[in-house]
Amino acid sequence: MSETTMQAIVAQEPGGPEVLRPAEVPLPEPGPREVLVRTEATGVNFIETYQRSGVYPVDFPFTAGSEGTGEVVAVGSGVTTVRTGQRVATSEATRTYAQFFTVEEDKALPVPDGMDPQTAGALPLQGLTAHYLVRSTFPVQPGQTAVVTAASGGVGGLTIQLLKRIGATVIALTSTRDKAETAKRLGADHVLGYEGFAEHVRELTDGLGADVVYDSVGRTTFDESLAATRVRGTTVLFGGSSGQVPPLDLQRLNSSGALYVTRPSLAYYTRDRDERTWRWGELMDAVTSGGLEVRVGATYPLDDAAAAHRDLESRGTQGKLLLLP
Ligand code: NDP
Repeated sequence: MSETTMQAIVAQEPGGPEVLRPAEVPLPEPGPREVLVRTEATGVNFIETYQRSGVYPVDFPFTAGSEGTGEVVAVGSGVTTVRTGQRVATSEATRTYAQFFTVEEDKALPVPDGMDPQTAGALPLQGLTAHYLVRSTFPVQPGQTAVVTAASGGVGGLTIQLLKRIGATVIALTSTRDKAETAKRLGADHVLGYEGFAEHVRELTDGLGADVVYDSVGRTTFDESLAATRVRGTTVLFGGSSGQVPPLDLQRLNSSGALYVTRPSLAYYTRDRDERTWRWGELMDAVTSGGLEVRVGATYPLDDAAAAHRDLESRGTQGKLLLLP
């Protein structure tokens, strides 16, 4: 690396994890109202596997990454709210699989003094997602019952904890005994496997079903998620870790209990500076008061981004995966 270049991960074409290769690229410059951040940790997220493999179209050569944390080392013209030397985190940058990245100042969230880079790096995307799911998509009330898929995963583990802070009953779904133990430790009231889970959810809810099902697994779980949702309840489909759900015949919602179905995305729940600041503030308060455990499942050198993707797609991980420069 020279003073004008840096290491980044570049995919020349869509494909398997092996297309993620280290390369020397120009150091980015912050544009107007942007800041340049020296990366301390980069978050790895499922969406980057969809982009890398071509499921979500992107332009190649492609450097993945929307999430990162680090120190601001330069500011562009017109920046007023962020200063050089400050530590920030974001889920809304681009090309964060790199030693440096730029981000709009409005999307740079302040990292509290003393917070370690791995905690700060693990929270922006998965934490803000868990927050909007339980506070906004379906604002859960104390005593309501929520089902959470992939419950020991990054989003899943944070969602369980936020639900318990509200006072909900949580039914967690996971695929292995180890993951079930994690979900239990994080506060889940009941832990189930995926096989026929709708029937088990009904048994646990006096035959009614759950008020809300948060489903990130998608193709292999969606039908059961609808069946596990109570009359006039809500099924929230927010991911497709097992594949995308085929088109839905709306008539099915009529025959299965006048259900509400939504397919939300974080971008629609961080629409302006006030909204993201509110969500981030609540997350930071929960972490700094000891009320939210942030689990980093594995870290990888930046150059080894391919291994992080391989592990995430292999279904073997728990908690957050981070790349360290
Ligand atoms: P996770 O840590 O949840 O990892 C994925 C988990 O999905 C696995 O550990 C596994 O848990 C489960 N899974 C079930 N079937 C499969 C399969 N066939 N292959 C791989 N994994 C499978 O990842 P994240 O927390 O990063 O993301 C979770 C989901 O949330 C993703 O689908 C992602 O796209 C989505 N997401 C959506 C957002 C939004 O705003 N809409 C924002 C952020 C994430 P188990 O073994 O327990 O089933």
